Order: sequence, then structure tokens, then C-alpha cells
Amino acid sequence: MLRIAAFFLSMLCSFGLIGQGVDNASIKTQAPPSNYSDHFYNKGQTDMKQQTLSIIKPDAIKKNIIGPIISRLEEGGLRVVAAKMVHLSKERAEQFYAVHKDRPFFQELVSFMTESPVLVMVLQGDEAVAQNRKLMGATNPKEAEKGTIRADFATDIERNSVHGSDSIENAEIEINFFFSQDEIFHS
Ligand code: ADP
Ligand code: MG
Repeated sequence: MLRIAAFFLSMLCSFGLIGQGVDNASIKTQAPPSNYSDHFYNKGQTDMKQQTLSIIKPDAIKKNIIGPIISRLEEGGLRVVAAKMVHLSKERAEQFYAVHKDRPFFQELVSFMTESPVLVMVLQGDEAVAQNRKLMGATNPKEAEKGTIRADFATDIERNSVHGSDSIENAEIEINFFFSQDEIFHS
């Protein structure tokens, strides 16, 4: 009887039906896929996981400078992990900028943000929220540091080419405003 049980056990093992424990050690030490930059793997994964919301605004879309703006973001160490073009309705734009609803420029801002599609993106990287803001430059391009996106591409304080979340908490809210989790590339 014991010999029969042992025989069946060995059969199950050889067909891989049991005893198929995953060798975690070998997964951890696997080489990164070739399309991942060294930059991405050189740092601890948790440091690199911060995400922020970026929007390329209608002025930049009209100037046909999506490419140069994304290059600045990538060269600055950020990675696009989600992206889509969206033509905001008045209601959606008002909702997104609700924090500014009492500011004098609110209606103009909503009108600007709805005049053409925008490109919304989730950016990921080390200190992504702060790094994106740094690459963007000050709200008013006249005050933005040389070499920043707004200094180099923006038209004026309203038509300032890009949006970027201003805190980790707002980044999460803004990402969820535009994206479901299955639209974000989880690396
Ligand atoms: P940021 O985009 O740098 O976070 P704010 O959150 O203060 O700046 O403002 C949101 C957006 O509203 C700005 O990016 C800009 O498009 C617009 N805006 C801000 N201030 C003004 C202003 N004084 N006049 C017109 N538009 C403005
Ligand atoms: Mg803001």
C-alpha cells in the first residue's frame, strides 16, 4: 500500500502538479529586461515608485511640442507610465481646477483648458512630484528658471504649457481623476 502511495506521489511530482514552488531567489537576480534603462534599476525600486500627474496643455499641443516636452521629462529622470489624449468638457475642467474656483482667472483657465485636447500622463521616478515641478519651472514663465519647460515653451502665466501635481496627496487624487489602475504601466 505504501509503495503504491509513494508511486502516485512521485508521478504527481514529475508532472509538476505538486512541489512546484517558485524559486524566488532566481527571480530576484534575473537581469532586467533590455528595454529598461540602467537608471531605473540602479536605485532601490521603492524610491523610484513615486508618481505624479502631468498635463501637456492646449498651448503646447497647438505648438506641436509634445515631443520636446516629454524629452525634457525623460531627460530629467522621469518615466511615462500612462498617457492619453483627452478633450476636457467644461464640467471636467471645472472639477479638475475646483481649488481655483474663486480666483479671478478661473473661467479663463477653464476655457483655455477645453480649447483643444490635452495629453495627460502619469510620470514615475525618484521624487517624481518635486522633480516634475522643478523641470516645469515657475507658474509664470517670466519667473521660471532658464532651461525649464515653462521658461522655454510657455506663452504666458495662463498658457504655460504644462500642469504638474503639487504634492504627493494631490498627485494620487489627480491620477485617479484621469486613470484607472489598469491603464498605468506597473513596472
Ligand atoms: P501651477 O500650475 O504652477 O501649479 P496654479 O496651481 O497656481 O499654478 O494655477 C493653475 C493654473 O492656472 C496655472 O498653471 C495657469 O495655467 C493658471 N493661472 C495661474 N495664475 C494665473 C493668473 N494670474 N492669470 C491667469 N492664469 C493663471
Ligand atoms: Mg497648481
